[in-house]
Order: sequence, then structure tokens, then C-alpha cells
Amino acid sequence: MSIRIPYSRQWIEADDVAAVVETLQSDWLTQGPRVEEFESCVAEYCGVRYGVAVSSGTAALHAAVFAAGVGPGDEVITSPNSFAASANCAVYQGAIPRFADLGLDGFNINAGDLAACITPRTKAIIPVDYSGHPADLDEVNELAQRHKCVVIQDAAHSLGAEYRGRKVGSQSDLTILSFHPVKAITAGEGGMILTNRSDLYERLMRFRTHGIVRHADQIDKIGSWFYEMVDPGYNYRLSDIHCALGLSQFKKLDRFLQRRRAIAIRYDKAFSGMECFRPLVEKPYVKSSYHLYVVQIDFKRLGKDRPQVMRELLARGVGSQVHYIPIHLHPYYREQFGYKQGDFPHAERFYSQALSLPLYPKMTDAEVQQVIEAVRDVVA
Ligand SMILES: *Cc1c(COP(=O)(O)O)cnc(C)c1O
Repeated sequence: MSIRIPYSRQWIEADDVAAVVETLQSDWLTQGPRVEEFESCVAEYCGVRYGVAVSSGTAALHAAVFAAGVGPGDEVITSPNSFAASANCAVYQGAIPRFADLGLDGFNINAGDLAACITPRTKAIIPVDYSGHPADLDEVNELAQRHKCVVIQDAAHSLGAEYRGRKVGSQSDLTILSFHPVKAITAGEGGMILTNRSDLYERLMRFRTHGIVRHADQIDKIGSWFYEMVDPGYNYRLSDIHCALGLSQFKKLDRFLQRRRAIAIRYDKAFSGMECFRPLVEKPYVKSSYHLYVVQIDFKRLGKDRPQVMRELLARGVGSQVHYIPIHLHPYYREQFGYKQGDFPHAERFYSQALSLPLYPKMTDAEVQQVIEAVRDVVA
């Protein structure tokens, strides 16, 4: 049967369509005015000086790792509880991906495990704001400062989330966002790197366009056609078409976030006191952006395994998803880097109990109720 309520989906309205059409009919399909407009809107919202729009969140991670100066033989530490892209970016630069386990009851990287993982070769740390809940950024930044590492915050889930009263974006050396359709707002595809540091900003800008620079003095002397390639960059540009959609969606970000939070609160209430079934808890100094609504289910006690629960939910029209298979357990990481089951027991236990329920701003109250009733049916 078809999934009636998916775990997530975008919300495109008539004004989004109109914004894209307007750009299609303008002089610029790419490298036009929408790119900078999108960058400055998002950067300002996140309380940070620079935003660099790129073709995806994955490209944003790659650019950030490059800007951080990560190269062959360096080590980069991230959370095993994430999408593979959070670690793949280290591999792109020839570095060795390392992982720090989660805390006992946590879902983000744990400072104690992180400290134990840092070596003289550690060049960057990539905390991931899992589900939209910022990691313990003070602890991560303190460790990074002590060991002279760059912090690249993977905020693909946490645009609009708050950490100690401030929006995510200015806490780390570099922060990356994604505008994939399931994320807080979408540009179709797209990503952005945020930073307050002008040196990093310049490296990011070069990396996005083939490592090319145009120096004003050379242009004066030689001509406006002149350019030089100084870094092994890529074409990671985001088009004006994408940015037009991103800008239009950006206007709705706060409305979308409010709706996500309202649904999460309703779920929390409905599911409180259920045995075998534990929603994630927001820390007091954090305001999650609720990218995902993840619950921990004690499948053993329940007497049903995860595939069965997912099938029974689906039979009631409720889609679900699993976030994430721990990165170190993917075949590539086992084969290339020798990781194995048991290396990060807290992440593995979290994964074994994780299930993401539908959460997206377009969900109606009736759909939220349908999910609640299906869960009660299946898990009670
Ligand atoms: C979505 C996501 C990315 C990658 O973003 P894309 O835009 O899909 O390339 C990276 N990290 C995390 C945690 C994500 O959820």
C-alpha cells in the first residue's frame, strides 16, 4: 500500500512556485542576485557574519573540511549517530574519520568520549545536532580550543534551533546547513556554510568555484578576463533558481518551526507514561528545531521487533524511518577503516531502539491524531 503519512516531506506553496518562475524569467539562472540575498538572509537570522551557499549540505561539509585545512593523514572526529555525509567529508580530503561515542542516555557526541578520542593528529571535530537538538557545544568548543582543532558543526537538522538562548550558527568556527526537501526549509537541493571568520570565508568562496581568484590589481593591469586557480576547488555553486526557492521558503521558517514544535509537544503529551516507549528529551538550555521526532522503543520488552512495528504502523497509514545506521557499521567504514560492531556501544544501542515518527509542518491535526492512535494501537 502507499504511505499516507510519510515520516517527512516538504511544503511548497503558490508563492514558492511564483518565486522560482520569476527567477526563470529573469536575466540570471545562476551566480545572480538571489544567491547573495539568500546567503545574507540566512546568515543574519543565524547571527553570523558570512554565509556561503553551495549545492548541498554534503558539499557544505566538504567545503568546511577543506577550509579547516584538513588533509591526508589528519584525523576528523564526528558522531557515529549521523548520516554518512558527516564522516564522508573527511574521507574526501584524505583524512581518517574517527568517531566519539554518545553518552549513556544521549544521542549527541559525548564530551568525555570526545576528549579520549583526540590525538595530536586531530584537525577537526564535527558535532552533529541530531534531530535538531544542538550538541553540547560549550564542551566541544572548549576541547577544540585546548587541542587547536577546528569545530565544524553539522547543523543540517538544526536551522532555527537555539543553544543557550542564541540561534545555532555562531557557536562554532564553521556551521553547515542543508536545504534538502526534508530539512527545515528547502531549496530543492542546497546547503550553506556559516562562519564569522574572514579567512575561512575566503577559502570557502574559492572552493565553491574551482579554487579560482580574481585579484583587483591584476584585473587593472591585465584585464577583466584574467583569473588564476590557486586551490583544487570544485563547482559547488547553488543556482539562482534554487536560491529563489530557498528565499521564499526562508520567509516561512519561523512558522514551520512553530508548527513542528507544536506537533512535538502534542506527541510528548500523548506518549508520556507509555511503557517501552521513550521520546527524546530536550535539555533545559536548548530549544530544538525538531527536525525529527525520534523515540526509543524497548522492542524486547514490547515483544515485537522494529520491522514488525514499522509494518503495523504502515498498515495504519503511518510511515516511519530509522535515523541512523551508525556510520562506522556501513560496509565502506568496516572495510576501509576496520570498524566493527561493538566499537561504539552507546550509539549502537541507541540505533537498535530508534524510530522516527512523522513530523513536518504540513501535517494536519487529524494526521497527528492518526499517528498518535496508530502508535497506541501498535505499541500499547
Ligand atoms: C541531510 C544531512 C546532510 C547532507 O545534506 P544534503 O543536503 O542532503 O547533502 C548532512 N548531515 C546530516 C546530519 C544530514 O541530515
